[in-house]
Amino acid sequence: MEECSNTGIVIQMQDYSIHDGDGVRTTIFLAGCKLRCQWCANPESWTTKSKLVFYRHKCIGCMKCATACPIDLIPCKMERPNDTCTACGKCVEVCTQKALDIACTEKSASALVKKIERDALFFRYSGGGVTFSGGEPFLQHKFMRVLLGKFEELGIDSWVETCGHFDFETVQDLIPKFSHIFLDIKHMDSEKHKNFTGCGNELILENAKKIYATGVPMTIRIPTIVEVNLDDENIEKTAQFILKNLPTANIELLPYHALGKAKYISLGIEDKFIPFTTPTAAQINHAYDIFKSYGIEIIEYR
Ligand code: SF4
Ligand code: SF4
Ligand code: SF4
Repeated sequence: MEECSNTGIVIQMQDYSIHDGDGVRTTIFLAGCKLRCQWCANPESWTTKSKLVFYRHKCIGCMKCATACPIDLIPCKMERPNDTCTACGKCVEVCTQKALDIACTEKSASALVKKIERDALFFRYSGGGVTFSGGEPFLQHKFMRVLLGKFEELGIDSWVETCGHFDFETVQDLIPKFSHIFLDIKHMDSEKHKNFTGCGNELILENAKKIYATGVPMTIRIPTIVEVNLDDENIEKTAQFILKNLPTANIELLPYHALGKAKYISLGIEDKFIPFTTPTAAQINHAYDIFKSYGIEIIEYR
């Protein structure tokens, strides 16, 4: 029997997104990920633990947060991550500057669905819906199972964006509930994949084939990073893999950007931020030309 959970850990909900699939969509970012991509723009997603986020540039030094903390921490000055902080959010409530926030909070399926339901008309008229993202959303398959059931009842279209690193057997009942799946392929060389993400690529490539076999339309998303995977050899191998195993999938290249740095600072883990080079338009077009030469269709949502 498939397991269900009426609560889950949500990083954030992004309304009116036009980059995560067809039409106007709400993207539900679920916490937790087993990879540690060196270019990750969402490091708050790595664990499901609630954590205090501090945006130093917004702080005016009023110290209201310090008076609100029940365990006498000084949120605007303390070292973070801080094991003593319970992420209770009392300091967030009093900060008028929105300099504090809690990342990764527990939400009930009913509250989340109620919020989504309000936008059902936008979804219907734009051909949109919801897109699950993360983190790796399938790690919270018990929560997704409940949400997908409700969205199905309400006639709300569901897409998912996955890194592919999950146990397929645990989630296979969910796959047909999506009308489209974005799956990331980051590198075709497993050793390099491991160096850059902490895990080899075998499970991801196997899951790509298993998802494809279900017949749900797929887009392969490739985070493109000059120092990592934009060389012709890797692009050719990726194209060959898609052509052989996922012949009707289209692809989208997602050029690396350094905007995630602000998140590392706000979480107090700036030392973990690794800068890479953003590809030029010419480099991206060159990679697209290689995919086109294999007859692979290009799509751009971002
Ligand atoms: S309450 Fe907000 S603005 Fe005031 S000191 Fe704390 S973090 Fe800064
Ligand atoms: S989240 Fe709670 S425990 Fe943590 S600093 Fe703020 S008030 Fe204190
Ligand atoms: S798979 Fe996505 S969320 Fe997970 S570490 Fe990589 S970039 Fe970050």
